[in-house]
Amino acid sequence: MKDRIILFGGTFDPVHLGHTTVAAFAAEQIGADEVVFIPAKRSPHKNVFPVASGASRAEMLRLAVAGNAKFSVSSCELERPDPSYTAETVSMFAGRYGPESQLYWLVGADAVGDLALWHRAEHVLDMCNLCVMYRSGYPKPDFSQLEHLGAERVEKLSKHVLATPFVDISSTEIRRKLVAAEDVSGLLSPAVLDYIEKNGLYR
Ligand code: ATP
Repeated sequence: MKDRIILFGGTFDPVHLGHTTVAAFAAEQIGADEVVFIPAKRSPHKNVFPVASGASRAEMLRLAVAGNAKFSVSSCELERPDPSYTAETVSMFAGRYGPESQLYWLVGADAVGDLALWHRAEHVLDMCNLCVMYRSGYPKPDFSQLEHLGAERVEKLSKHVLATPFVDISSTEIRRKLVAAEDVSGLLSPAVLDYIEKNGLYR
């Protein structure tokens, strides 16, 4: 059987327990050997820049994944010149792992609408299994707006929906609570919270 590698891109500003919970669930469901968290320089689909630096977001990810042997972090998108597209990242990992591996890319249900806007979306869908995960507060994935990508690709997407547990946490909410000096201790790993406090992030 091919090695199964999960790639999980995002801004992770900051990484939270929603991210690590759904990633662990996805690894179990898919039978993956590895989950690589890939912080983006910035999302081409969000019109705001990340609040924390790329280096801080990558460091928080390293702290958050330290307890899980399957989890790792790649700074490849932070190191590439702007803009950093998923299509390039998937191609890079396909070259690195070779044809003996099967790549998966995770996105939350909130990102389905953006898929049509992805740079070389067809390439991404053909190079890997793009898995849409359930997300609290968002409807179950519906691919009817993506027919222009081709019936086979939509069929492939539909087959890879992951019924991940609903974890009602977002980075936006964590940043808001930190600004308001509210408790965020149940929302992210203690090591990440410690890093945020020591470095005065998001205040
Ligand atoms: P923000 O609130 O700043 O938009 P976020 O919490 O959505 O951030 P991202 O770093 O943008 O975090 O998320 C990376 C990926 O993880 C996205 O595909 C997003 O849909 C998914 N994701 C984030 N949080 C959850 C969650 N609680 N459940 C399922 N998927 C999630």
